[in-house]
Amino acid sequence: MHPAVLEEMLRVSRSEFGNPSSIHREGQQARRALDRARMRVAGLIGAAPEEIVFTSGGTESIDLAIQGVTVAPGHVVTSAVEHQAVLNTCRHLEQSGLRVTRVGVDGDGLLDPRSVAAALGDDTRLVSVMLANNEVGTLQPVREIAAAARERGVPCHCDAVQALGKIPVDVRDMGVDLLSVSAHKLGGPKGAGALYVRRGLELVPRLYGGHQERHRRAGTENLSGVAAFGMACDLARQQFEDRTRLMTTLRDRFERELRGRVQGVSVNGAGAGRLPNTSNVMFTGLDGEALLMNLDLMGVAASSASACSAGQNEPSHVLRAMGLTAEQTLSSLRFSFGPTNDEDDVTRAIEVIAELAGRMRSSKDAHG
Ligand code: PLP
Repeated sequence: MHPAVLEEMLRVSRSEFGNPSSIHREGQQARRALDRARMRVAGLIGAAPEEIVFTSGGTESIDLAIQGVTVAPGHVVTSAVEHQAVLNTCRHLEQSGLRVTRVGVDGDGLLDPRSVAAALGDDTRLVSVMLANNEVGTLQPVREIAAAARERGVPCHCDAVQALGKIPVDVRDMGVDLLSVSAHKLGGPKGAGALYVRRGLELVPRLYGGHQERHRRAGTENLSGVAAFGMACDLARQQFEDRTRLMTTLRDRFERELRGRVQGVSVNGAGAGRLPNTSNVMFTGLDGEALLMNLDLMGVAASSASACSAGQNEPSHVLRAMGLTAEQTLSSLRFSFGPTNDEDDVTRAIEVIAELAGRMRSSKDAHG
């Protein structure tokens, strides 16, 4: 977490003991902290504060969006490269009779809005597409997809968890009805998130209890987490250009030097518009999992598929949908850059990767 974000979290934990729903002075003071956080989160995505529902993170926001709109049976259109939070919610609803169309992507992980439009039917209740892919960083044409959905009177949900703070996100410009975000992707704490719900859109709550969040999400808010999320959004807005410029510079240098130094390297999704911080690299012929373990021992933290799938060692569904073979997906690793990385980190990562890849390749050659 950014020091100012951590400071805000501690400050609110120390001084805002009240419950924002209480009418006494302490409660009202806590309410003001909650309102401020709501304005800050809304401000980063171009929403009105009352359109923000605080949740426990991206997964809950996605669950509320999909299950709050689609009461099975019916039809949902989504993509083949969504995060598990979307895919597994849809899979679960299929058991209750929901029909799900998972639209495929091209070799860079990009959706064609025409394919999404073609999948819409008379019983389609929701379109759910991500703004930026968490494994390769590919940016989807959400504005075009939302427009096609709107023409058919179908609400559009966007999983913008990976995108927030890294590319501009504006709910009005995108024309989406629902949008999920999560604090820990932009320097905020884990376990805090929000769902944007367009004014006027009917949403069935998932939790029944108190009247918090305008009846859309019952339960006392995680005030310190949400306040820290608000601070993280404010900082992301103020530092947006510096952060994206730094991440793009580091990522581009990383990819350029890696291609020059290591044999058989290619970057997955490089042909599409991508997030500035994500680099998904295929090391042809090498075992990605073994490389990952060795990198970890040398102090370089990378990921095979998304962190949420770590330990499963199954070929990434995203890379498979992009047309890679199972072997190619198992040779691919994701490297991510953040605002606290610097040029020295890139230099060191390149050295370590080049040395390990060279060693693994020569031992492979020696053993046939
Ligand atoms: N959607 C995407 C694209 C993600 O990358 C993630 C987390 O990695 C999530 C949803 C889930 O968010 P959370 O971890 O806050 O539940």
